[in-house]
Amino acid sequence: MAEAKLIDGKALAVRLRERVAKGVAALKAHGGPTPGLATVLVGDDAASQVYVRSKGRMAAELGMASFDHRLPDETGEAELLALISRLNGDPAVHGILVQLPLPRHIDAAHVLRAVDPAKDVDGFHPFNVGRLGSIASGAPLDFPVPCTPLGVSMLLQETLGPLAGRHAVVVGRSTLVGRPVAQLLLHLDCTVTIAHSRTRDLPRLCRQAEVLVVAIGKPEFVRGDWIRPGATVIDVGINRIAGPDGKNRLVGDVAFAEASAVAGQITPVPGGVGPMTVACLMRNTLSAAGGTA
Ligand code: NDP
Repeated sequence: MAEAKLIDGKALAVRLRERVAKGVAALKAHGGPTPGLATVLVGDDAASQVYVRSKGRMAAELGMASFDHRLPDETGEAELLALISRLNGDPAVHGILVQLPLPRHIDAAHVLRAVDPAKDVDGFHPFNVGRLGSIASGAPLDFPVPCTPLGVSMLLQETLGPLAGRHAVVVGRSTLVGRPVAQLLLHLDCTVTIAHSRTRDLPRLCRQAEVLVVAIGKPEFVRGDWIRPGATVIDVGINRIAGPDGKNRLVGDVAFAEASAVAGQITPVPGGVGPMTVACLMRNTLSAAGGTA
C-alpha cells in the first residue's frame, strides 16, 4: 500500500501566521489597537520558559505587543490573582495567557476563572468552555476556542474540505484537548465518538474512524492495524522517548511508520499539530483585539 500523505502542520501554520500578520496590519491601519498578548509564567520550569518565550517572540513578529510577566515559584495565589486583575483592566492587553502547569500551591482552576473571558485567548475559562459546548452546528466561533483543538480542526478542514457526515473518533477526553476537539468536530457536523481509558475494544472502535484524532500522552500507543485504510489520522501526542542511539526524540501517540502504511493522510510528530497551536494563539489574540485573520 502507498504511504500516507503527510499533513504539513508547519506549512499551514506559516500561512495562518501570515494571515494574522495581515489582520494585525489592517486593524492598525483602520485606527484599531495594536493587539497585546500578556504571558504569565510562575516558576522556572525550563519547558514552560521556552514556550512562553516563543509565544512572546511570535506575537512581536506578527506586529503585536507582548507583555512578559515572570513570577518566582513561591508567588502566592493572591499575588497572581492581583496581576490577572491588573491585566484584565489594562486596555493595551487583549489576550492573557497563563502558562500551565502552575506550582502546586496555586489552584489553577481558580486562576483560569479569574481571567476576563474576553481576554481568555486559551479558551479555558468556564464561560468559554460552556459556549463551545453549547454552540449550534455551523454558528460562528466568535469567542476564544482552545488553541490545539482549533489547530486540529483547521488541519482537518484543510486536508478534507467539509467534514459533514464523517465519522470521527477522538481518543482522549481531557478538558484541554480531547473534549474541545470532539465539540469542534461536532460543530463541523461530524459524527463523533469519544474514547478514553475505560473504552472497550479501542482497536475495533478506531478501525471505524474515517477521521482519527489521538490525544492520550502514550508513546506510539495506536498501532497500524487499528487504522481504517485511507483514514485521516491526527496525532496530537508529544512524547519524549530515548531512541536506539540513546538520544531523546519526540514521538506521537500513534506508531507513525505502521500507521502511515495504512492511513490516507497523517500528521507527523513533530511538525503536525504542534506548530498550529501557537499560530492559533496568535489568531485568538488578534480576534480578541477586534481583528480577523
Ligand atoms: P491528559 O493526560 O490530560 O488526558 C489523556 C486522555 O487520554 C484522558 O482522557 C485518558 O482517559 C486518555 N487515555 C489515557 N490512556 C488511555 C488508553 N490506554 N486508552 C484510551 N484512552 C486513554 O492529556 P492531554 O489531553 O493534556 O494531552 C494528550 C497528549 O497531547 C499529550 O501527549 C500531550 O503532550 C499532547 N499535547 C499536545 C499539544 C500540541 O500542541 N501538539 C498540546 C496539548 C497536549 P481518562 O479520561 O479515562 O483518564
